[in-house]
Amino acid sequence: MNFVLIGAPLSGKGTISKMLSKYFQIPHISMGDLLRNESNNNSEFSSSIINSMKEGKLINDDLVKRILQNRLSKKDCAKGYVLDGFPRNIKQALMLETFAKIDKVIYVISSPETVINRLSNRYVCPKCWTSYNTKNYEKNYCEKCNEKLVKRVDDTEQALSNRLADFRQTSSPILDKYVKESKLVTIENEGDINLVFEKLLGKL
Ligand code: AMP
Repeated sequence: MNFVLIGAPLSGKGTISKMLSKYFQIPHISMGDLLRNESNNNSEFSSSIINSMKEGKLINDDLVKRILQNRLSKKDCAKGYVLDGFPRNIKQALMLETFAKIDKVIYVISSPETVINRLSNRYVCPKCWTSYNTKNYEKNYCEKCNEKLVKRVDDTEQALSNRLADFRQTSSPILDKYVKESKLVTIENEGDINLVFEKLLGKL
C-alpha cells in the first residue's frame, strides 16, 4: 500500500506518518527530511535548499522530484511506503503519477491554535530529524542519536506564516484531485494521538 500524507505545517502529518510506517511495516519517506539530508551533504544544491527553507519557501519542483524518485526506487519501498510532504502543489501531484501509484491520500487537519502551540514546543535532532514536543519530552538530546536537539531553521513565526499561506494557496487543487479519484481520507488531529490513529485506521 502506498500512502500520501497531506497537511499544513505542524498539522502532525509527520507523527501520523511514523505511526502508519510502524503499523504497516513500510518506510516513512519524509520529503522535508530528504531535503534536510541533501542540505547537510554539502552538495551543489545545499545552500539554495537551506535558503528556501529558512524563508518557508518550496524548493524547486524538478530538484525535489529527482531526489524523491531516487529514494522511491530503493528496494525497501517495493512493498509500499508512507510519503510525507509530497505532493505540495498540483504540478507535483501530476509528476508523482508518472513514477508512483498512490493508493490512499490522508489529509491531516489541526486547528491554528494547536499549530502555534506545536511551533514553540517542537525541537528536532540535527542528525536523524526526529522531532520532539518538549511538552512530553523533557531531555534536550535525541534518544536515538544522543545529539543535542535544535530548532528547525523554518520553525520561526515568519517562515510558518509563509508556509501556511503557501499551503492554503496550493492544497485545494491537490485535495480535489484525490477526492475525484476516491482516494482521500480526512482526519482531525487534536487531542490524544493514539485515539486519532485508531480513528484513522478505522477509516482506511
Ligand atoms: P516539512 O518537513 O514537510 O515541514 O518540510 C520542510 C520544508 O522542506 C518546506 O517548508 C519546504 O521548504 C521543503 N519541502 C518539503 N517538501 C517539499 C516539496 N514537496 N516541494 C518543495 N519543497 C518541499
